[in-house]
Amino acid sequence: MTIDLRSDTVTKPTQPMIEAIRLAKVGDDVYKEDPTVNALEEKLANFFGMDSALFFPTGTMANQAAIKLHTQPAEQLIADKWAHVFNYEGGGVSFNSGVSCKLIDGNRGMITASQIEENINPPDFYHSPLTSLVCLENTTNKGGGACYSVAEMQAINELCKKNNLGLHLDGARIWNAIIANNEDPRQYGEIFDTISVCLSKGLGAPMGSVLIGNSEIMKNAMRIRKVLGGGMRQVGFMAAAGIYALDNHLERLEEDHKKAKEIAQALAKQPYVKNVEPTETNIVIFYLQTDISEEKFLKDLLKKNIKISSMGQGKLRIVTHLDYTNEMHDMFLTTLTNYSK
Ligand SMILES: *Cc1c(COP(=O)(O)O)cnc(C)c1O
Repeated sequence: MTIDLRSDTVTKPTQPMIEAIRLAKVGDDVYKEDPTVNALEEKLANFFGMDSALFFPTGTMANQAAIKLHTQPAEQLIADKWAHVFNYEGGGVSFNSGVSCKLIDGNRGMITASQIEENINPPDFYHSPLTSLVCLENTTNKGGGACYSVAEMQAINELCKKNNLGLHLDGARIWNAIIANNEDPRQYGEIFDTISVCLSKGLGAPMGSVLIGNSEIMKNAMRIRKVLGGGMRQVGFMAAAGIYALDNHLERLEEDHKKAKEIAQALAKQPYVKNVEPTETNIVIFYLQTDISEEKFLKDLLKKNIKISSMGQGKLRIVTHLDYTNEMHDMFLTTLTNYSK
């Protein structure tokens, strides 16, 4: 048995999910004739109280399409220095949209309205790039699953409106924030112009992301998805997995959060651990004491068939998920407690 805690993307479809995939009614989605894709898009548009949604193969492509919808070449977006759109999308911001990033030194991947305000280039000052978009991430990935407060996101929305800036949410793990803080998803629809969500993370579908927005901004989304190579045909099979996941795997995220908190508490007690960051959702970030070799620690865990990730600069990451069972959890906690270098 392998205990794989590197990411919540490692889950395999459950038997009932495979059954939902098998039974899906499909059609050619490039002609918009796949009933299951259409149903998923409608379901998610309603979920966030918006009027349009589009299925994408990956979260990266959904984010990249959103950035293209909001910007013109030579313009600039504002994001936290740890943002996925800047760090983990292969430089696509410049490749796909010809846009630069103004990075803010935020707190656990989150930035404030006043930090954003200080970083908007004056629109009349034509020497600097025109600021046109703000990208937030909720929950934050590199920031350890941290969640924005609704009040901060509302303040950022007001600032963006005042300054004529688009506001995009990279909501790969928005589900975790909604469940952890018992939020009404329609608030997100009121705050953001566009929202990307992943079905392939905590929800446990094999693939798929959806970009949600209002029809005015989304008019061009089909064209951009086509340009990026993301127009797919009988992809209702994968949309069926997404619908199944939304109906059956959303509420249970609470269990992943509980296990992550228990791991964080166990780690905090270990003499070999220097620091554990606050654990709000399903991601635990921690640092080893300086006299412990990170490489050896990871190898020792691997000998017990336990996988976790290193994010560089001494940062270690554990992500709980659907396939991390109670039995695995007990074994992992015991391993952490008994570990000595
Ligand atoms: C996983 C993730 C994405 C999208 O990743 P894909 O692997 O392209 O689906 C986007 N943003 C964040 C914060 C993520 O964690």
